[in-house]
Amino acid sequence: MKKFRLAIIFTLLLTFGLVSFANAAVVNKQDNNVQWLGHSATLITTEKGLDVFIDPWITDNPKCPVTKENINPDLILVTHNHFDHMGTDVPYFVEKNPNCIVVVHNDVVSALNEMGITEKNIVSYGMGLNYGGQAELEGIKITMVQAIHNPSAAGYIIELEDGTTIYHAGDTGIFAGMELLGNLYDIDLALLPTGSTFVMNPFQAAHSLKLLKPKKVIPIHYGTFEVLVQDATEFVKLSKKIAPNVKIEVLKPGGSLRL
Ligand SMILES: [Zn+2]
Repeated sequence: MKKFRLAIIFTLLLTFGLVSFANAAVVNKQDNNVQWLGHSATLITTEKGLDVFIDPWITDNPKCPVTKENINPDLILVTHNHFDHMGTDVPYFVEKNPNCIVVVHNDVVSALNEMGITEKNIVSYGMGLNYGGQAELEGIKITMVQAIHNPSAAGYIIELEDGTTIYHAGDTGIFAGMELLGNLYDIDLALLPTGSTFVMNPFQAAHSLKLLKPKKVIPIHYGTFEVLVQDATEFVKLSKKIAPNVKIEVLKPGGSLRL
């Protein structure tokens, strides 16, 4: 009888959240998950369950293994207004999640407006960001940084709720400011374009690791088009020589890395 009474009391306490199992925090602790969806498209699911979608090119992305119906982002970060980065699915995502915020360079805002996306769903009261600008959204700090590509191309430093820091370079050649980024931010993971032609070639990308000093790197923006380097072999070979301390994570499109 006494045991029965204790069980009832314990159940009530649990119900009202007054006690929790000592290891509950451990059981519930999720890692951050970074999923590469081919080309530059990257989906980060944070430990708190937020979905951050960078370069949301799904429809017509020949390497993307999922359809847009599988994705419901809270935040969308667009590095620049080219078809293989902005894509055409942003209005679909915003309609599906009316609270979704799109982060873009302020020169790209008008293109979003033309897609029917209004102020309410665009960062900084509809004005976008420019280099050095930071937005804190849902506890995630997003800083726009330069990229050497077309005039309003950007990269992002993304500091997640638990402090994990990710650099998504967008489309870029190597630039001296990468050393500054490496000094200012303790980068846990860099996503770097390695496919040459429009972005860093494997040699530049491997050298950029020396400047950025990330703990890990995922090579991206290769193998999508015939004109790009088709795989990560050369990048891996050079990186092992040039930046041996960086852990190289070559993913298949759809593959994930937990951080
Ligand atoms: Zn591109």
